[in-house]
Amino acid sequence: MTLLEIKNVNKEYKAGQKALNNVSLSIDEGEFVVIIGPSGAGKSTLIRIINQLVAPTSGDVIFKGQSISSAKGKELRRLRSHIGMIFQHYNLIERTNVLKNVLHGKLGQVSFFTSAFGRYSQEDRNTAMDLLKQVGLEDQAYKRADELSGGQMQRVGICRALMQNPALILADEPIASLDPKSSDVVMRQLKDITESKGVTTIVNLHQVDVAKKFATRIIGVRKGEIVFDGKPSELTDDM
Ligand code: ADP
Ligand code: ADP
Repeated sequence: MTLLEIKNVNKEYKAGQKALNNVSLSIDEGEFVVIIGPSGAGKSTLIRIINQLVAPTSGDVIFKGQSISSAKGKELRRLRSHIGMIFQHYNLIERTNVLKNVLHGKLGQVSFFTSAFGRYSQEDRNTAMDLLKQVGLEDQAYKRADELSGGQMQRVGICRALMQNPALILADEPIASLDPKSSDVVMRQLKDITESKGVTTIVNLHQVDVAKKFATRIIGVRKGEIVFDGKPSELTDDM
C-alpha cells in the first residue's frame, strides 16, 4: 500500500535557484527509507516539504490519499498528527524529565490544560514508560533530559515521536551529532521499533555506510534531484 506520494515537487527559496527540481517518488507502508546526499543537496527541504514545514513552489504531496500541500488549519494539523518528527538536536525540553518529554508526543491530541498541568492519563503514562523500556531507558524516566548523553536523548526523541502513534516518522539527520557507537544504537533501535509497530520511516543521513547497513531502500539526492533510488546492495561506490 502506498503511504506517501511526492509528485513533481519543485522548491525555490530564491527565484531561479532550485533546492528541489521536479522530484517525484512514492513510498509504501513499512519501508525504512534513507535519503543520502551531500550537504546542500536538498534532503532537509524534501523532508520538510513532506509535513509542510516548507511549502513547495509547485507540485503536490499526497499522504494517506490526501493532499497535504493544499491542507490548511485543522485539516493540516490532523494530517500532521500522523507524522512523527525526530531532529538532529533532539529538541527535548531540557529542564523537564524524560517521561514528560515522551508524553509531549501526545501534544496536539490532548488539550493544552492536560499537558500544561501534567495530567496525562495513566494509560498514556504506561505507554510512555513502555516505550522507554523498549529503548532501555526506563531507569532514566525521572531524570532531567539534560542529564542524558546525546545518544540517550535521541532515544527519548524516538519514544516521543512514537507516542503520537504515527503512520510515518521523519528523521532529519538524527545521528549527525553522535559518535559512531551511539549512532549505531540509535539507528538499530529506530529501525527495530518502527518495524515492530509497522511505522514507515524516512531518515536523512550523509553517512553512506550507515544508510547501507539499515535502509530497506536508499534514495540519493544531489543538487535537488534524485540520482539513485534502489536497494542498498545496488548502490555503487561513486554515489
Ligand atoms: P541538505 O539537507 O541536503 O543539506 P537543504 O535542503 O538544507 O540541503 O538545502 C538545499 C538548498 O536549499 C541549499 O542550497 C540551501 O542553502 C538552500 N536552503 C535551505 N533552506 C533554505 C532557506 N530557508 N532559505 C533559503 N535557502 C535555503
Ligand atoms: P543543518 O545542516 O543542521 O540543516 P543548516 O545550516 O543547513 O543546518 O540550516 C539551518 C537553518 O537555516 C535551516 O532552517 C535551513 O532551512 C536554513 N537555511 C539553510 N540554508 C539557507 C540559506 N541559504 N538561506 C537561508 N536559510 C537557510
